[in-house]
Amino acid sequence: MKEKIWLSSPHMGEKEMGYVQEAFATNWIAPLGPNVNGLEQDLEKFLGNDVHVAALSSGTAAIHLALVILGVKAGDEVICQSMTFSASANPIAYQGASPVFIDSEESTWNMSPEYLEAAIQDRIKNGKKPKAIIVVHLYGMPARMSEIMAIANRYGIPVVEDAAEALGSTYKGQAVGTFGTIGILSFNGNKIITTSGGGALISANAEYVKQARFLATQARDHAPHYQHSHIGYNYRMSNVCAGIGRGQMEVLSSRVAQRRYNYDFYKKAFADVKGIQFPPDPGKEFYSNHWLSTILVDSDEYSMIDIQEALHADNIDCRPLWKPMHLQPIFENDLYYGSGVSERLFEKGLCLPSGSNLTEKELNRVVNRIREVVNIKKSFKNVANNPISCVTFLLISTLSMIL
Ligand SMILES: *Cc1c(COP(=O)(O)O)cnc(C)c1O
Repeated sequence: MKEKIWLSSPHMGEKEMGYVQEAFATNWIAPLGPNVNGLEQDLEKFLGNDVHVAALSSGTAAIHLALVILGVKAGDEVICQSMTFSASANPIAYQGASPVFIDSEESTWNMSPEYLEAAIQDRIKNGKKPKAIIVVHLYGMPARMSEIMAIANRYGIPVVEDAAEALGSTYKGQAVGTFGTIGILSFNGNKIITTSGGGALISANAEYVKQARFLATQARDHAPHYQHSHIGYNYRMSNVCAGIGRGQMEVLSSRVAQRRYNYDFYKKAFADVKGIQFPPDPGKEFYSNHWLSTILVDSDEYSMIDIQEALHADNIDCRPLWKPMHLQPIFENDLYYGSGVSERLFEKGLCLPSGSNLTEKELNRVVNRIREVVNIKKSFKNVANNPISCVTFLLISTLSMIL
């Protein structure tokens, strides 16, 4: 078996161990401590725009707390981008609320502003004004935030910006995660930087971030005994994990550069292959960290599945794009507004190995394997359409098997 090529594996720098060792040396082995404070400050500095940051145990926990802070309750409706990972939508269910899914637009693959507005108007007509909007920057590509914020502000609905995949991406020069009422990040093992597991809640509203820290540490009131006037959660980041995060923040810009390099590498390598397309370029206002490099396979001769199977057979990891939430069994009875863009993307889209630790040799192995599939399927299709060469093809194949 050839050596495994991963989709997106952790990539440590030089400094992570130092911060972790310091946590051990000072016995700060708890969900608080100098690394937690340090990581929050590093993120605040990196994101700019006067935001405050709370380091949490996961991106999912951050979305959950965002909904709690925005007052989402049982029976409410929350709008959510359909094309995303289930963790964007699950916290809506944690609150006993119902998701209303919105299709993607072609140019960014993210929430369609048109369907967003249509859904808001329709839900208001039905007496159910949505309580929040969850928008996602998929694979690092910023969503169309100017349009989305304008709509949200027009109807007075808060926005939760799921930037789990997009740390290092900017829209109109501004870091994503800082546009919404509340933003969230993930530091899961597969993300652009990792704390082995972790997340963050971002907001320009200091009160919201203070509330997030309070709720994430079991909502303990100021009292000499354990007293609670809110339901709390155990969602704070550990000081050991935050140490990894501090080291990773020092290499974030080089991780972004490498992911973008991977994307350009694939794009150049398949420039002459008509059946392999890349996401559209929505313009220079959209700066993607290209967390994952994605392709659309659009050919009569081979399918996305053909490429997926060939890569797997060669021990190369790859995944179809996220399956839209409105197609998921668990959400099939929930509302959806759209016209099938995300469905088509799901049918044709594939994520290629994208780690910042991929070598030139590994990138070439991925490209060569895909080119082999494309060429074999092409020549097979050509002979299948021509009876004489079909016989020749079979003869040659049989002969080559015997010899
Ligand atoms: C990874 C991810 C999350 C969840 O983050 P965790 O830290 O794994 O809980 C949420 N939304 C999106 C879009 C993600 O990719």
